[in-house]
Amino acid sequence: MLYIDIHTHKIKCAQNPSLSVLNVFPADISSVSKSKFVTLGIHPWYISEAEANLKTLSEYVFLPNVIAVGETGLDKLRPDFEKQIDVFRAHIRIAQQVHKPLIIHCVRAYQDVTELLLSEKFELPVIFHWFSGSPQLAKQLTDKGWFLSFGQSLFDLESKTVRAFKAVPLEFIFFETDDSDYEISEIYEQAAFLRNCTAENLSDSISKNFQLFFQR
Ligand SMILES: [Zn+2]
Repeated sequence: MLYIDIHTHKIKCAQNPSLSVLNVFPADISSVSKSKFVTLGIHPWYISEAEANLKTLSEYVFLPNVIAVGETGLDKLRPDFEKQIDVFRAHIRIAQQVHKPLIIHCVRAYQDVTELLLSEKFELPVIFHWFSGSPQLAKQLTDKGWFLSFGQSLFDLESKTVRAFKAVPLEFIFFETDDSDYEISEIYEQAAFLRNCTAENLSDSISKNFQLFFQR
């Protein structure tokens, strides 16, 4: 069975068979192998040199191994929210131009992110990475056709994220390691435990989601 890690910051020699999508900051893209699946974008925590990085993003986003734009997004716990909005909007437009999906980092800003995606008429696939919201929020996002990626927070059994995870239809789910120390196989096993199924069942669904996500 195949483990897909939709969002990681670590180049791993993970166990096989696995497919991981490395998150890369524009300034680092030239050092990453062109045989590796990557997503390219400016994290909302690191927007201080956004202009130069947006230029680099525009130059490299066409590479065939860049399968999505991001992570990008909004984080209410960090400064310069107005500038975050400008940088996020620029990512939305770049993704639209090159017809690639978006990987979104969102902290306490789901309303703002949703409004921006709708006002920009973004109709390509979207993944909210490290989803950690309530079941109600999960439903609002998946009702729009957007995907949610779950990771380390699945181990916090009392969390609202776990309740949300149990309720989200499988066709809107991905898994990720982000910058945690978990192996992607451990995330799948935990997810299978929570949903009372096998990791193989999840693997089949996630593989289908991956194909749909990146083939539109
Ligand atoms: Zn990340």
